[in-house]
Amino acid sequence: MRVKVNDTVEVIAGNDKGSRGKVLTVNKKTGKVVVEGMNLVYKHVRRSQKNPQGGRLSKEMPIQISNVMIVCEKCSSPSRTGYRYMKDGSKERFCKKCGAGHGEVAPPKAAYAEK
Ligand SMILES: [Zn+2]
Repeated sequence: MRVKVNDTVEVIAGNDKGSRGKVLTVNKKTGKVVVEGMNLVYKHVRRSQKNPQGGRLSKEMPIQISNVMIVCEKCSSPSRTGYRYMKDGSKERFCKKCGAGHGEVAPPKAAYAEK
């Protein structure tokens, strides 16, 4: 699972192809992510106490994780992401295009540390 909450991703398939947004939730079970402002559907809402007006409400629907790509902050392009071990044995994600780190994903492990 390479995508994490708060990542900026670009949608690479479907109606929102080419748009970028922030990841709001990741569902590991279904392999889907909800991205801010992407894959919007209008939900028709009946008048109720909570919604005295009723009407239409836009809502983000989950997108298949394979249809989004993480946008690298450094080279600002959607890029493939890899994992690598750091000198102290911690694991981080990195941009395969420019090599910039995308932050630590696992705490240092002695077994992977450089001796
Ligand atoms: Zn990059």
